[in-house]
Amino acid sequence: MSARPRTSPPLLASLPAVDELLKSNAGARWLAQYPRTLVLKAIRDVLASRRAKILEGTATDLAIDGLTAAVSLSLEQLSTFSLRPVVNATGIVVHTNLGRAILSDAMLANVVTVGRGYSTLEYDLSKGRRGKRHAHVKGLLREITGAEDAVIVNNNAAAVLLCLNTLARGRKVVVSRGELVEIGGSFRIPDVMAAGGVRLHEVGTTNKTHLHDYANAIDSETGLLLKVHQSNYRLIGFSAEVHIRDLVELGRSLEIPVMFDLGSGCLIDLRPYGITHEPTVQEIVKTGVDIVTFSGDKLLGGPQGGIIAGKRCYIEQIQKNPLARAVRVDKLTLAAFESAFMEYRDPARAVATIPVLSMLLAPLEDIRRRARRLAGAIRRGMPGEAIDVIQDTSMAGGGSLPGVELPTAAVRVRASQISAAELEERIRKGSPAVIARIRDAALILDARTIRDYEVPAVAAAVVAACRPA
Ligand SMILES: *Cc1c(COP(=O)(O)O)cnc(C)c1O
Repeated sequence: MSARPRTSPPLLASLPAVDELLKSNAGARWLAQYPRTLVLKAIRDVLASRRAKILEGTATDLAIDGLTAAVSLSLEQLSTFSLRPVVNATGIVVHTNLGRAILSDAMLANVVTVGRGYSTLEYDLSKGRRGKRHAHVKGLLREITGAEDAVIVNNNAAAVLLCLNTLARGRKVVVSRGELVEIGGSFRIPDVMAAGGVRLHEVGTTNKTHLHDYANAIDSETGLLLKVHQSNYRLIGFSAEVHIRDLVELGRSLEIPVMFDLGSGCLIDLRPYGITHEPTVQEIVKTGVDIVTFSGDKLLGGPQGGIIAGKRCYIEQIQKNPLARAVRVDKLTLAAFESAFMEYRDPARAVATIPVLSMLLAPLEDIRRRARRLAGAIRRGMPGEAIDVIQDTSMAGGGSLPGVELPTAAVRVRASQISAAELEERIRKGSPAVIARIRDAALILDARTIRDYEVPAVAAAVVAACRPA
């Protein structure tokens, strides 16, 4: 009845039993290396796929050696981590898909120190009794940001949600229409407002919002004035937004709290490094804003986290919200943050030791030197091919510094034997995986985000990918 080719009993019968493979030499090797359940799964998967191929009439490799090799490969794949390191050759420093900020050795060392043993997470050594989880970073955050108080939660989306819910649950939140933004994926200001149980009151127009728009909107049901930083786009041309300073003044005169979702949360003035001005957290705090929220793993360069800084009375309310427990940070995150904030006490030091900052602010000459090293190593492996160091631009990424183009150096590879698309795919699927761009039928490896220690591996990956199979 089936249109499929007829089954071939002799071929099917030639397939070994699971037990036979388990008892073979290879089986003994697998069992010594992998859990029994995994070995059984791999054997059954391989046999099932062989059986299906035989029934389809497409089976080619029926030798037992082929089966053994397939099981070995399957076991290797099943026990490879899914979350694993990649080389970022895109030049995008805060690459959300590639894990945003990479952490410094000092941050990671502190994560290991705290994680491998018991810790003071919620224990006060001086009093010998229960302490507070948030105490470990409060002092440093106050010191660095200038805010009265601060707390860290799971991420900035959680920070915004928690603040809205605490300060304006059941009430209206006034926000400019030009700031009803989407920050990649599922974070949209109107949706977060709904989830936080507040009512959105949009004012102004897409391109222009004035102070009187906010003033006219405020009534007895208004619970909060919200400003959202245009962190991943810019309004240019005929446009106007209200400065946070003026919004703070308005809020104060009417006794309505004012909150600023700053997004990328830069703690260092980038102007001396030739990057257009991104408002720093310290500057925003100085305006007297009641609450400012920002991400830990964007320009700050730390682990994932959402930092809430501002007036003590509000931070205390926020910490008492039952939602705060649902979005609290763990000890490993706190360990990384405490280490990062120690670095920020000295901005010059932070710029040198926080990887996001050092990559973002790297002198072009340093990037070019790395690009030349990489190009040289690739050329040695495939002489005669077109390998050049070119001038290019990279982006900060992660919804930080939109429109800022950072001059960079990249290696351009034009292989004679394979297409750029094929080369890109091969190095992406290799080990280590290298993520690169294609432009004008050439592979572009931006040296800004390639670490020095990764240079030999990237060169080897490119050379191997270009070798005829
Ligand atoms: C990135 C960003 C967020 C979301 O922060 P996460 O840390 O990714 O949760 C919210 N608001 C603004 C303005 C942002 O730029």
